[in-house]
Amino acid sequence: MPAKIISGEEIGAEIRAELKPEIDRLKEKQGVTPGLAVVLVGEDPASQVYVRMKGRACEDMGMHGESIVLPESTSEHELLATVDRLNEDPAIHGMIVQLPVPDHIDANKVLRRIDPQKDVDGFHPENVGKVAIGDDSGFPPATPFGVQQMLMRSGIEISGAHAVIVGRSNIVGRPVASLLLQKGPGGNATVTVCHSRTKNIGEVTRSADILIVAIGRPEFVKADMVRPGAVVIDVGTNRVDDATRERGYRLVGDVDFDAVKEVASAISPVPGGVGPMTVTMLIYNTVRAAQRWAAI
Ligand code: NAP
Repeated sequence: MPAKIISGEEIGAEIRAELKPEIDRLKEKQGVTPGLAVVLVGEDPASQVYVRMKGRACEDMGMHGESIVLPESTSEHELLATVDRLNEDPAIHGMIVQLPVPDHIDANKVLRRIDPQKDVDGFHPENVGKVAIGDDSGFPPATPFGVQQMLMRSGIEISGAHAVIVGRSNIVGRPVASLLLQKGPGGNATVTVCHSRTKNIGEVTRSADILIVAIGRPEFVKADMVRPGAVVIDVGTNRVDDATRERGYRLVGDVDFDAVKEVASAISPVPGGVGPMTVTMLIYNTVRAAQRWAAI
């Protein structure tokens, strides 16, 4: 039987519908409109799409959204000055600097400059550390947080499951591991993390009850790498040439969807899977930041 489809569109819409009354309450009862600033340096086309999506999501939710687009030639000093200004801006409760930044800018320096209370992307070491030790005052990064929500809201039993994560980036793989390992709801998994040096990777992925793939390799995971009945979450977002499409490419994940859906019990598609969850969880974190700000 083909796998159940885990739709990030649907789960994301469900979470946004839950957030809307809280946004209205913050605005009406506390006079606080949650505000998210997205800073983009340069003209990377994929980043431009992401920034537009985040702006549109803020608008749809009745939040204050600010997109700050700086030229490629922006110096590190100028970008840091922009971050400083947003750190001080009372209308902004969450801020993200869209990655990647141009090579002449040290991304780590910029991420560390963001006030951890406004770091809704969860990349500041203070938030990374809090998530790693299970301190729920930290902001989990949006994509891993979205992956965890997809599993929880699809009724997948995480506790006691063997979760295999392929990819160990700071943005996806490692924080997914932290979240699923935590004690408590959405956690308690037995976690294995694979990377480019993992030996016999197919053997490891076949031992997964829950397989999460984030490597950036189109359709890398084939059906024979998946245990029948496993749950598969595909974080990968890859453009592959496709002359039949008007834009000349299509998006595929890191999992061979058509083959793996015949083996897995549940699977997230690309597009329509993790992508929409990322924007939603960014909104979620921004609302939390605004709640805290309102409580001060
Ligand atoms: P990344 O920083 O490039 O990290 C890739 C990871 O995959 C590394 O840990 C690397 O191992 C590992 N890897 C690469 N090739 C491998 C192989 N053949 N076998 C096993 N492991 C391998 O990538 P990322 O930022 O985590 O992103 C991963 C994918 O997720 C990309 O397609 C990206 O576009 C997508 N993504 C999607 C969203 C979303 O919202 N949907 C958000 C973020 C990322 P080493 O550490 O050993 O090099």
